[in-house]
Amino acid sequence: MAVDSNLSSPLGPPACEKDAKALRFIEEMTRNADVVQQNLLAEILRRNAETEYLRRFNLGGATDRETFKSKLPIITYEDLQPEIQRIADGDRSPILSSHPISEFLTSSGTSAGERKLMPTIKEELDRRQLLYSLLMPVMNLYVPGLDKGKGMYFLFVKSETKTPGGLPARPVLTSYYKSEHFRSRPYDPYNVYTSPNEAILCPDSFQSMYTQMLCGLLDRLSVLRVGAVFASGLLRAIRFLQLNWSRFAHDIESGCLDSEITDSSIRECMSGILKPDPELAEFIRQECESDNWERIITRIWPNTKYLDVIVTGAMAQYIPTLEYYSGGLPMACTMYASSECYFGLNLNPMSKPSEVSYTIMPNMAYFEFIPLGGTKAVELVDVKIGKEYELVVTTYAGLCRYRVGDILRVTGFHNSAPQFHFVRRKNVLLSIDSDKTDESELQKAVENASKLLHEECGSRVAEYTSYADTSTIPGHYVLYWELLVRDAARHPSHETLTRCCLEMEESLNSVYRQCRVADNSVGPLEIRVVKNGTFEELMDYAISRGASINQYKVPRCVNFTPIVELLDSRVVSAHFSPALPHWTPERRRR
Ligand code: AMP
Repeated sequence: MAVDSNLSSPLGPPACEKDAKALRFIEEMTRNADVVQQNLLAEILRRNAETEYLRRFNLGGATDRETFKSKLPIITYEDLQPEIQRIADGDRSPILSSHPISEFLTSSGTSAGERKLMPTIKEELDRRQLLYSLLMPVMNLYVPGLDKGKGMYFLFVKSETKTPGGLPARPVLTSYYKSEHFRSRPYDPYNVYTSPNEAILCPDSFQSMYTQMLCGLLDRLSVLRVGAVFASGLLRAIRFLQLNWSRFAHDIESGCLDSEITDSSIRECMSGILKPDPELAEFIRQECESDNWERIITRIWPNTKYLDVIVTGAMAQYIPTLEYYSGGLPMACTMYASSECYFGLNLNPMSKPSEVSYTIMPNMAYFEFIPLGGTKAVELVDVKIGKEYELVVTTYAGLCRYRVGDILRVTGFHNSAPQFHFVRRKNVLLSIDSDKTDESELQKAVENASKLLHEECGSRVAEYTSYADTSTIPGHYVLYWELLVRDAARHPSHETLTRCCLEMEESLNSVYRQCRVADNSVGPLEIRVVKNGTFEELMDYAISRGASINQYKVPRCVNFTPIVELLDSRVVSAHFSPALPHWTPERRRR
């Protein structure tokens, strides 16, 4: 469609009028970033002035940044835990926000082994929706013709619970997919998905994935983009196809949906979609039966122009595998968001994963940045190119000066809004999917397993390190153990070591166990016992590369290939967790 020339945007010529409006909005927000931030904070402080939390700090009606920053402390989740617990227990007084807390969003970050509960209010859905509405107008600047086909996205809802006070507690995407905003979205030719809502909203992950993949296969020639939220999710879909292609071929040949799909709304919706197509069934068999799955995405969905998945941060480990399956298609990381708040978007979504930068949108929340190693937080517009910062947010829902735990590096500016490279999440050692395991959680897990080892055969774990092995799908945690065996006659048996694997899994946080049990997105934990002296060799290696002998500490996680190779070359035995750890959607009370 030809677009009126006066609609043109500094970002590029928009694809349609609706896009022009969205791009103008981005321009307006980023040009006036400082004023937008100042006004937004004032608005939050005005409307929440009578909350218990703000009253505690005697702002005296002030809504300016200086007073706010001088009177309120920068906090973490633990600081807010008592208030959050009261809200969860049913206290409806304005504790954090003058607007009622509508639900809790369960973050993949944990506290005391359970998911963090992030309070949110109804109108935040509109703010999230607004950020989503900016993504395609930006993408259309780089990839033309996306209105001529569909997106094959693997999207899932997860289980939800109610807090003792009756508020829903669920992941932010589950909340979004179940909302009217998503379910009753108006038709938009740039945002047509192959997955029916019935499949996305099905709580059974097998039936949901099966139906979404089947619909993607049936509509394979319309597919112009393939995605999931995170890279691990897309790889799980490919693995699912590997395991189930003959069932799909059978359904497509016969026009009958597999009997394991029992969800009535899915069956009803598929009865209008699934028709016998023996030719397509034969094509799928031919493509899938070979052992060679290189470029499988472009072979089955030949019109795919790009993958839409986050491959920044911990997800970067999946880039080579995705390149293999897609024949090197571009990977677009479109947005940066969390349960606390949606932050911003990538204005150059076709950039290489290593060069991705997110522009924080100043209308989403009030943002501050603590320089790494410093204490004094600076404003959004005052960050310096090349420097690293920890992100702090103040949200409409009532989080005030809250540390998100993400470390970001400034790469540049769009107008006056800074752009950030996601560097890492603070304190995360291991991550395969949405699980995040920190050093103390891993330490505790090893201690518990070591205790078991000691009880069963008198041995101890002398040294350990870990590795996120993503060479298979799903990936899994590997623990390298050097043992202290006191009595050679009681050398730990294979059975004991497998029990140690399970003991460690039982000790890990609820997000890890959910990934193992409900999502099947993390495989069984593995212990690789290494020869005595291996950890000394590891130290020698580090010292030969310049580490100081005095300050040397065993790394509790390794990912540098020569070190992993060294460890692997010293492995004497390997053991996997023999069963699933316990997990239920219910939260443990603190
Ligand atoms: P959650 O609280 O479970 O919603 O997870 C949010 C966290 O996921 C963020 O704070 C980041 O650490 C991470 N995350 C979200 N979006 C991105 C992204 N585009 N790139 C890297 N990490 C991300």
